[in-house]
Amino acid sequence: MKKNQIAIDGPAGAGKSTIAKMIAAELGWIYVDTGAMYRAMALYFDRSGTDVNDEAAIDRDVDGAVVELAVENGTQVVRLNGEDVSTTIREQRIGELASWTSRYGSVRAKLTELQRVMAEEQPVIMDGRDIGTTVLPDAGLKIYLTASPSVRAKRRYDELKEKGTPDLDLAAIEQEIIARDEQDMNREISPLRKADDAVEVDTSDMTIEEVVERVTSLYKER
Ligand code: C5P
Repeated sequence: MKKNQIAIDGPAGAGKSTIAKMIAAELGWIYVDTGAMYRAMALYFDRSGTDVNDEAAIDRDVDGAVVELAVENGTQVVRLNGEDVSTTIREQRIGELASWTSRYGSVRAKLTELQRVMAEEQPVIMDGRDIGTTVLPDAGLKIYLTASPSVRAKRRYDELKEKGTPDLDLAAIEQEIIARDEQDMNREISPLRKADDAVEVDTSDMTIEEVVERVTSLYKER
């Protein structure tokens, strides 16, 4: 068991990144956002015009992308072939494309390898879909963070509203979240699922502070 690794998995909008960032700051560890890496890969395929329905095309193009995560001035920056793409990858379209292209074995193998290297170099709290099951199977603490689709949709809605996004449709956001969950849970390679030894935390009726407190106390108990 590796005490210097915490794995947080769960569906879109469960609060993984918010929680992981806060715990990383508390412990003085590095936070690794693996979703951002899948998003950067999707952006690469989008820009290079790769036919994302053609696995041979994905396999051919996958190595053209250099994906890096760095911390600059205390903020996490995602680089694609040297360019800071941290903002662009947050577009909903890129999130959906990432959910599609993350199904491919060559994409998963490439990013899994990078993620493992990062975890060897320093203590990490890593979030994603397959961290506890595949990337860091020996992590000292594994959390499966969930919340009901309607709660997750409302959180996403509030977040977008605060950013000033116009024409928001709560029902459409919920549908998108449900579709993404289904795609991520039903793919062949490393689908989203709770690792057998993960602790499930349903955040539907919890505040952020309560979730951080719960995860931190679980870590201290180990
Ligand atoms: O978490 P985020 O929404 O940024 O992730 C985007 C997509 O990347 C997910 O819907 C999922 O398909 C994929 N992903 C994955 N494995 C991970 C992290 C993200 O397949 N470890």
